[in-house]
Amino acid sequence: MKIEAVDFFYLAMPEIHDIGDGSQDTLLVRVRGNNGQEGWGECEAAPLVSIAAWCCPMSHSGCKPVSYSVLGRIIESAADIQSLNAEVRRNSFDLLQADHTLAGIDMALWDLLGKQHDEPTWKLLGWKKPFPKTAYASQLFGDTPADTLQKAQRVRSDNFRAAKFGWGSFGIDLAADQAQVRAAREGLGPDVALLVDAGTIWGEDVETAASRLPVLQECGVLWLEEPFVSGALKAYSELSKLMRNPLRTAGGEGSHEPFMARNLIDFGGVGYIQIDAGRIGGITSAIEIARYAETHGVTYVNHTFTTPLALSASLQPYAGLETSSLCEYPVEASTLATQLTLESLSIDHNGQVHLPERPGLGMTPNPATIRQYLQPVEINLGDQTIYTTPSL
Ligand SMILES: [Mg+2]
Repeated sequence: MKIEAVDFFYLAMPEIHDIGDGSQDTLLVRVRGNNGQEGWGECEAAPLVSIAAWCCPMSHSGCKPVSYSVLGRIIESAADIQSLNAEVRRNSFDLLQADHTLAGIDMALWDLLGKQHDEPTWKLLGWKKPFPKTAYASQLFGDTPADTLQKAQRVRSDNFRAAKFGWGSFGIDLAADQAQVRAAREGLGPDVALLVDAGTIWGEDVETAASRLPVLQECGVLWLEEPFVSGALKAYSELSKLMRNPLRTAGGEGSHEPFMARNLIDFGGVGYIQIDAGRIGGITSAIEIARYAETHGVTYVNHTFTTPLALSASLQPYAGLETSSLCEYPVEASTLATQLTLESLSIDHNGQVHLPERPGLGMTPNPATIRQYLQPVEINLGDQTIYTTPSL
């Protein structure tokens, strides 16, 4: 099958708020083959910049647009997708958002290849069977501890066996943070796993991060996520050494190429590596890290705060890893995100998510949702139009 077209659809909520909610817009990618089939993926990054990475003019030999390596390419097997990834990285290493653009294309190619072979993507990736994952309800801290308590009670009554709270005002004031974490634990009860996401708030300040460890240990928190910015490996390593079981550091969602994630494993001492398939370059790069984590005693977890399509894509790389059993599950996504696909990925009565058995990623974008939130884009260079939103 030859790649005939790659189409981008920029979808956005009518108003974008200054909160840690990445589901307020998305860049949907459709790849069409000359066999008449199509696959869908999503880039988890600033949508317009990702479109620019697709179509910008070449600056020099290491700074070619992603389209240069993709259009016209023949894809028949998993190995063909892997070599396409390598080619994009070779031709676009100086183009900073190339990996994010590649991520959506790579997902769409795995979806397309699955449809071509009539197999779910996880099977094409070499997994014999997919293990269900324990969904953790991923949400922001409430404005007050009382709000957080209510949110925790709600996810507990919704059958979740794990929950994560993060962002909001967490990380600024020690006493306020203690009250928030205790409220989350109280609302969840003793049996639901609790995770905390600091959203990189402490930069590389180990001492301030360490001052939160006693309350996290007291409340039986499983992981402290992103205490620092992604590249602060020394700080990650120092904080990791101060933790007692079961508390570990978690990080990696910011990785936009595999070495960033591997460095967190090798030098940051993380117990959990969190990979966003929409950032790291797609499913191909994500499974590379899933396998690396497995052989290095680190638990792999998806990072996903957006749509069911992104959730399905993020589950494929570690579908067959039984010991990596947690899964980020968005519970506060925008209507754009929750209504994006015709199918949904709901949790069962034990709080578990099961991967789709349908071909490819098993999720179909809903044309009505695309039309509702579509922001048409046109990019002109001189008197030439180098990009225009395609028709559905
Ligand atoms: Mg996070």
